[in-house]
Amino acid sequence: MALNSTWCCRCVGEIKYMIKYGKTKSGNQRYICKLCKKTRVENYNYQAYKPDTNKNIVQLTKEGLGIRSTARVLKISTTTLLKRLVSIARNINHPIISKGRTYEVDEMCTYIRNKRNYTWLVYALEKNSKSVVAFYVGRRTNKTWIL
Ligand SMILES: [Zn+2]
Repeated sequence: MALNSTWCCRCVGEIKYMIKYGKTKSGNQRYICKLCKKTRVENYNYQAYKPDTNKNIVQLTKEGLGIRSTARVLKISTTTLLKRLVSIARNINHPIISKGRTYEVDEMCTYIRNKRNYTWLVYALEKNSKSVVAFYVGRRTNKTWIL
């Protein structure tokens, strides 16, 4: 009954025994974790359920692929991709701005739809690592510079 090779995604780090829990519509075996009661299927037909989909989305976005080309490469819909991008972005931890370091603040101006609708991108870089520690997108006001 118990299957060694099937992992529970929530109980990462420890191999937990999963037990059979019926079958899917397509006939694949479904398993349930004894601890957290989360079910999973070993081989999903739907590409977005695969465990490395979010990792691939991040990698392809960093490579500069657009929404439609990323969706085409991963064989998922653009709606699913956009929802995943939002959820991945919400889980990013903000870096800590500490007093001992030097930061560079710069701004960039662009417009949305027409040239009267200016939008400013203000960002702060940590000088040594060149990583973005904070940014703001919107109108140029005194609030914008506070970040
Ligand atoms: Zn579990």
